[in-house]
Amino acid sequence: DLLVVGSANADLVIDVERRPAAGETVLGGDLAVHPGGKGANQAVAAARLDARTALLARVGDDGHGRLLLDSLGAAGVDTAGVLVGGAPTGVALITVDPLGDNSIVVSPGANSRLSPEDVRAAAGLFRATRVVSAQLEIPLETVVEVVRNLVPGGRFVLNPSPPRELPAEVLAACDPLIVNEHEARVILGDACVGGEPADWARLLLAGGPRSVVVTLGAEGALVCAGADVTRVPSVRVDAVDTTGAGDAFTAALAWRLGAGAALAEAAAYAARVGAAAVTRRGAQESYPTAEEVEALCGA
Ligand code: ADP
Repeated sequence: DLLVVGSANADLVIDVERRPAAGETVLGGDLAVHPGGKGANQAVAAARLDARTALLARVGDDGHGRLLLDSLGAAGVDTAGVLVGGAPTGVALITVDPLGDNSIVVSPGANSRLSPEDVRAAAGLFRATRVVSAQLEIPLETVVEVVRNLVPGGRFVLNPSPPRELPAEVLAACDPLIVNEHEARVILGDACVGGEPADWARLLLAGGPRSVVVTLGAEGALVCAGADVTRVPSVRVDAVDTTGAGDAFTAALAWRLGAGAALAEAAAYAARVGAAAVTRRGAQESYPTAEEVEALCGA
């Protein structure tokens, strides 16, 4: 069982030859609308693996909100905790240039209205699960309330994205804190200059979390609890699109932890899920089933 607390966005994507300057209009390709947001991505990734998954999130009473509810439902996510209304559904306006570089404007919308009261009102969802996974595309005070509502002995997994400073109370609950290289650099600031990822993992652990995972793209991941840093090998695949790989990794890891796996074992499984996710385009559309993960690790 897994409860994800986080964001749900509609990703609006347009290919452009070049970005407009101030006051300028450019023509682009056809609009593509994809369900996204780190919370919804994580929930769909876990549900695709056949994990019993619930999402606590907020969307607007609009077409984008219905798109998200449909895609979550189709993946098998329990959407009873997806609240509707308060603001328009969160949107990411994405332009992609011919080099494949993205420019993104995010309107958090309803995500910014997911409140501590919403967390308290979802007590039933918290009672039903031992593992809760969150990210930072919702208000920080809401994440603080999530930590306070864990069942006794419950486990909290956090991907601090977008990265920002965290209260000690949240850091102390993370088991693990999961960061990619970019997030590690932002959180550590000057402290990571000159060091290598194993040093980052130890520095992050010294900041308060019970354990740390640093994901390294095609290089796999590092797991750090106590003095040991363990390397989790990656799976060699032909990467097509890495969008959402970290969300799939985090969801898979949290689910395996909830099923009783040790951290390194859960991370090894998550690395296979992440690898499978980069072999297809998109985020949620790219997430593998448990059978596809098995097939990949046999390859
Ligand atoms: P994010 O998507 O947050 O930037 P990463 O790029 O580190 O995070 O990817 C998360 C995980 O997905 C990695 O730890 C790895 O297990 C897997 N992964 C990502 N890219 C690749 C790749 N090119 N080949 C194999 N596995 C990958």
